[in-house]
Amino acid sequence: MKSENLELASQQVNKSMNLELSNQTMNKTANQQINNNGFLVISLDFELIWGVFDKVDHNDKKTYFENTRKIIPEILKLFLEYNIHCTWATVGMLFNRDFEEWEANKPSRVPDYVNSSLSAYKYGDSLKPELSAQSCFAKDLISQINNTANQEIGTHTYSHYYCLEDGQTLASFKADLEKSISMAKAMGIELKSLVFPRNQFNESYLKVCYEFGIKNVRSNPTDWYWKDTQSTSLKNRLFRTGDAYFGSNNKSYRVKELNKIDGIPLSQKASRLLRPYSKHKILNNLKLNRIISEMTHAAKNNEIYHLWWHPHNFGNNPEENISDLRKLLEHYKKCQNKYDFGSLTMSELNSLV
Ligand SMILES: [Zn+2]
Repeated sequence: MKSENLELASQQVNKSMNLELSNQTMNKTANQQINNNGFLVISLDFELIWGVFDKVDHNDKKTYFENTRKIIPEILKLFLEYNIHCTWATVGMLFNRDFEEWEANKPSRVPDYVNSSLSAYKYGDSLKPELSAQSCFAKDLISQINNTANQEIGTHTYSHYYCLEDGQTLASFKADLEKSISMAKAMGIELKSLVFPRNQFNESYLKVCYEFGIKNVRSNPTDWYWKDTQSTSLKNRLFRTGDAYFGSNNKSYRVKELNKIDGIPLSQKASRLLRPYSKHKILNNLKLNRIISEMTHAAKNNEIYHLWWHPHNFGNNPEENISDLRKLLEHYKKCQNKYDFGSLTMSELNSLV
């Protein structure tokens, strides 16, 4: 009896040693793969009305935002199905439940833009609470995203803050960021990645971001026509639009091209904006094929391909948009099988640099 027990115990020791050994081998393989692979990074600017209130009439967009709310769980389902890791850069105001909370959470310092039509605070004050809450708050959805595997909640500032606008100051930016961080913390979320609204990228604010724990920011593609994000010149607009359909596959990059600088967040370059579904079939297919070809290029060459969009871009033609996203993720799966292409959040990419 005793020797049987001994035998059993020794079998268990052997089993656990083998397990340990196979874990080590697996970790080694995983590390080798991580160092050699390419990765798809997806970041989404989640903002609802707060990202567009100066451009659209809220009353015309009811269905659009209703669709956006419905589409987010659909996107999450697809991400789970294809094991996609994604960073959701979320506007802090969405963390409120209603206008009462929104009012109570106003920071003591708010940006005093010369162009006051950009102020989310002034805009919020002008709304009729009973008619607009659906487009302004999304605590339930944030919770759902946060509870889904491999999703990172990042920040898109508290008030969709414009860092290059006249009238705002570093102090009001700090107050904005602090509010985002405390709202997220109350939900058990630590914010590590930031996307600057309208890609207004203010280098002098980066230090402050880092001090508040932001380790990553998304930056613009390096092409000249993206340099000045405010430019609406016809030439720039034409090039930006044309770039969605034609051109060379130069949007992806190696992990080693990313450069960590002490005291400021890691700048992660976006490769491409996924434009919404277009009823113009030829253009829509050109756009998808371009992304597919860029993704293949990144996978083959072990590069990072960073795709971004706003969930509300799926608000018109939601079914077609979801079906296009599935096509892209289906291609991602092919790249994964063929080239070990992986998927990362912005925070996960940071840990490889
Ligand atoms: Zn935005």
